[in-house]
Amino acid sequence: MIFKQYFDTASFTYTYMIADPDSKEAVFIDPVDTNVDEYLELLKNLDLKLMYSFETHVHADHISASGLLRQATGAQTCIGLHCGSETADNQLEGNEVFAFGEDTLIRTLATPGHTPGSTSFLWNDKIFTGDALFIGGCGRTDFQNGDAGELFDSVTQKIFTLPGETLVYPAHDYKGDFVSCVSQEKTKNPRFAGKSRDQFIEIMDNLNLPMPKLIDKAVPANLYCGLDEEQATQMADDSEYIFPDKERRGVQGKINSKKQKIKQINVDAAKEIIASYDPIILDVRKTKEYSLGHIDNAINIPHDDILSKVQVVLAARSKDTQVLIYCATGNRSIAVGQTMKELGYSNIVSLSGGYVKWKRELMSA
Ligand code: FE
Repeated sequence: MIFKQYFDTASFTYTYMIADPDSKEAVFIDPVDTNVDEYLELLKNLDLKLMYSFETHVHADHISASGLLRQATGAQTCIGLHCGSETADNQLEGNEVFAFGEDTLIRTLATPGHTPGSTSFLWNDKIFTGDALFIGGCGRTDFQNGDAGELFDSVTQKIFTLPGETLVYPAHDYKGDFVSCVSQEKTKNPRFAGKSRDQFIEIMDNLNLPMPKLIDKAVPANLYCGLDEEQATQMADDSEYIFPDKERRGVQGKINSKKQKIKQINVDAAKEIIASYDPIILDVRKTKEYSLGHIDNAINIPHDDILSKVQVVLAARSKDTQVLIYCATGNRSIAVGQTMKELGYSNIVSLSGGYVKWKRELMSA
């Protein structure tokens, strides 16, 4: 196998590249935008085909290169579902298996705490822990909806239950260390070794760290895998929209081949439609996302259930009724709109920017 660890000196970030020398298939973990040329050169020099670009979470201290790598190579982007990065191809919930090469497997582990969507990746005897676990430390939990108790549980109940010799590769190191192992962290990491959950929370609550310099730029960009919203939406529009296959994660199927144009509207226009046309409001996010907040009177049919459920759920409504579809940021809703058009629904609009934009505008009103 080919395995390379990169270090970004500006943000102290580790990026990883794994490739199978026989099939020439490769993956990246946590690539940094400013180093994308170096990655592409390596792929070219070794004649590698990039299959996936994984993110351990939405980073606050650097901008991801996943979107750029997807544009350049066609690789699929992958990030935790609870990161809110709707334009990523694969929304990870943990326990997915990604296969590349002959028999190379990467397993995902949901390790929330630093952020709700934080994910670790297990490859043979190596775990890539992102900011869940550093060498002798861990990521902070005081922003991006971090939760110290949850981080303690992720590390002690998931990462520390792996074999002690499992190598730990973090997303950052600030002291010049580059690899550790589970038993070393279990016995020596001052945040966890001999600490109770309450003691850990107490430590994390009193770190008093300054905000990362790039946070205002990095977080919004990384919600779109390092691209701006327009580029990311364009990217999703240009490619045939793909839905994760529930049975075989990482292997994807197309929902349709002939795409129909779906009108996109802004929040004001959506409000006007709701006020004047008694539309069917369709929330196509996952049930969990819907339960955390939705537009009044919206019906929830998760996007991957649309084909099987929409005609049953909407049986009492005419196919000419105005339909307003939304998801989190406005990509899945376009794909659903295309499917519904094929099913005969004629009056469809999609909320541009999705529920994220809806909520943002409500809050700023
Ligand atoms: Fe982070």
